[in-house]
Amino acid sequence: YIIERLQKRSALIPILQALQTECGYISEFAMQYIADLMGMSAAEVYGVATFYHFVNTRPKGRFIIRLSRDMSSMMKGAKMVAQQLQNDLGIRFGETTPDGMFTLEWTSCIGMNYQAPAMMVNNEVFSNLTAPKVHRIIEDCRQEYNAHRKPVGNVGETYSNTLNYANHQANAALTKVVAMSPREVIAELTASGLRGRGGAGFPTGLKWQFGAAAKGDPKYMVCNADEGEPGTFKDRIILGKHADMVFEGMTIAAYVVGAREGIVYLRYEYSHLRPHLEAVLEARRRANLLGKDILGRPGFCFDVRIHMGAGAYVCGEETALIESLEGRRGEPRNRPPYPVERGFNNCPTIVNNVETLASACCILDRGAKWFASMGTERSKGFKLFSVSGDCTHPGVYELPWGITVDQLLETVGGKGAKAVQVGGYTGQLVPARQFDRKIAYEDLGIGGSIIIYGPDRDMLEVAENYLEFFIEESCGQCTPCRDGNVKLLEGIRLLKRGTCSNRYLNDLIGLSETIKLTSKCGLGQASPNVIVALNAHFKEEILARPIQGH
Ligand code: SF4
Repeated sequence: YIIERLQKRSALIPILQALQTECGYISEFAMQYIADLMGMSAAEVYGVATFYHFVNTRPKGRFIIRLSRDMSSMMKGAKMVAQQLQNDLGIRFGETTPDGMFTLEWTSCIGMNYQAPAMMVNNEVFSNLTAPKVHRIIEDCRQEYNAHRKPVGNVGETYSNTLNYANHQANAALTKVVAMSPREVIAELTASGLRGRGGAGFPTGLKWQFGAAAKGDPKYMVCNADEGEPGTFKDRIILGKHADMVFEGMTIAAYVVGAREGIVYLRYEYSHLRPHLEAVLEARRRANLLGKDILGRPGFCFDVRIHMGAGAYVCGEETALIESLEGRRGEPRNRPPYPVERGFNNCPTIVNNVETLASACCILDRGAKWFASMGTERSKGFKLFSVSGDCTHPGVYELPWGITVDQLLETVGGKGAKAVQVGGYTGQLVPARQFDRKIAYEDLGIGGSIIIYGPDRDMLEVAENYLEFFIEESCGQCTPCRDGNVKLLEGIRLLKRGTCSNRYLNDLIGLSETIKLTSKCGLGQASPNVIVALNAHFKEEILARPIQGH
């Protein structure tokens, strides 16, 4: 079995992860050994291992503490938490304690913004951190280690309004679907107007139609659970509370396109969800909702496995995700061909986001008309929003498309905000005077992240945080993204010091346009959005900044 696995390139990352669990890190010797067994070069293995944030290529502590440094966390006291960690452990970020017990690192958003600041201790998540709480967690780690136990995280409940998903009768959609032809299912989904909920907004019915028509065997159904956009956590809530619906949606998609294998690409930061997801899958197998001849329909065979991500924001892009599934660096591919024609292992692959699959279940149970009666002309139905930042009620909200930013702020207790980041770091920074804009594909299309900035927030600190994130997460394939964002960050830091002229700001805008135009994927194409927004909406505030030290 092991030899068979080793011959498959796609086994590389799971093998690295398994080895890391046993040994703590992947040594150069181990890389050479794996390379020999898999018929690869050591350089290839090294290239993959060093691409992912959560693959350790050097020894680390028994407890790796990763503090989230997304903007919501920074606004809610991550710096104070960082100081407390450094004081308690006697080390700085990037270091390991001399006894080999703790390593301290920063990390990107871990999907806990509504309970920020938050951190991971190995795979466990701790949120709503305060200095005394941090101190206690460190002590608990020491005691748990002595008692040979694992620390247990403390993820609390999320504030959310009643989700439509909660009303879904288990497997009602699947039961209806197996009595329909794939063509009828596609027609219903198309009539509903459902668009992909990951951010790009591609019509789901059309994607399934292309999947059904694609030539090739086997076909794969992939659920993109690599929710890495800073400020987004709604997929985590769906997977935690309504995983059945996600698997039901995958099974329906498989029925429509003719896939026999499903893969959930689960981001590493959500490792704590895996036991729950495996249990749900097992229960579905026992109930003949997965496996052979599903629901007694001869020939309808489909099963799902979970593939763990290893920490790379860019893998949320579907072609990068497929590269990662194949055991490579998560670098986006050129398109065409699109995954639906040639995706995983060069076979037709349908990639849908977690929320899209859950929404498809609601539609196929309650009907396209019901869904299409909500929302706007080009944005039908409801949408989940992950709300964090300066508001009284952060959490997950289900709201119809077409509400204004103002209405959303009213709902979540965010009135008086200076600006709102709609759509995560790659989205749009909307200033207060534009809060009458609509959240819908007609105006502000969005994957789900809403970050609210109160009246006293420094927008240059916001931009600096974004650029640091993009530099960290760029896969490095294209020069404009890899090097251009570094230049933009230098510019932001000059602006922060008050030593930047109007002319230099114009140069930064020129560079931003170049990066947007010449980058290969959405990360590079959207990374300068914040600079463009600062120039358009906060220019006077920036240029009036006093020179530091004067
Ligand atoms: Fe990689 Fe950036 Fe190019 Fe995207 S734009 S492919 S993240 S270098």
